[in-house]
Amino acid sequence: MIDTDAYKKITETLKPLQTLLVAVSKLKPVSDIQEMYALGQRDFGENYIQELAEKQALLPADIRWHAIGHLQTNKVKYIASFVQLIQSVDSEKLLKEIDKQAAKNNRKINCLLQVHIAEEETKFGFNEAELAELNFSAYPNVVFCGLMGMATFTDDKEKVKKEFLYLKNIFDKMKEKFSKDMPILSMGMSDDYLLAAACGSNMVRIGSLLFGKR
Ligand SMILES: *Cc1c(COP(=O)(O)O)cnc(C)c1O
Repeated sequence: MIDTDAYKKITETLKPLQTLLVAVSKLKPVSDIQEMYALGQRDFGENYIQELAEKQALLPADIRWHAIGHLQTNKVKYIASFVQLIQSVDSEKLLKEIDKQAAKNNRKINCLLQVHIAEEETKFGFNEAELAELNFSAYPNVVFCGLMGMATFTDDKEKVKKEFLYLKNIFDKMKEKFSKDMPILSMGMSDDYLLAAACGSNMVRIGSLLFGKR
């Protein structure tokens, strides 16, 4: 069961902020996605590749699928033909494989570079120095669309805000440096999406507020 009221409230809140909602449907049934699709939602995010591929095969072709979880290189091939945006690119090894699979499928694949902004070591992502050294031209079949980050899991809003502003700062610097079109800054989840939007996010990934607890 999806929370229709929450969906309407969130989309109305995000519209004037020009922030795109990615509905995170991981571990939720296909019927939930169909319900939200009927409300007009087209961008859905999934963490687990097998689940993503299975759902994609069952659901309307105009859904834009976002891969948002840590992605193993050997799984890229299962989503390379259709994925809209891989938000969780966290290594050059993965970039290399995405580039290869994109070429195989005669397409370019949109990617966000995940940046490690949280305190937890368990979270993935590049740090600022690694980003600065990235050789973008080595991956001609990858379209670099921007950055993604996850804040520390904490009630301390000031800390979360600091992390979001840090990522926004890196985003702005990179846009300037590469003077190319990198439009997307994906940050914010159920607990912190308003704060993220206030800190400059233009894409939020919301799961439990829409679909209930997992
Ligand atoms: C699960 C997940 C989300 C959604 O989390 P909620 O707290 O349920 O909104 C967002 N981003 C990533 C990367 C996730 O893994």
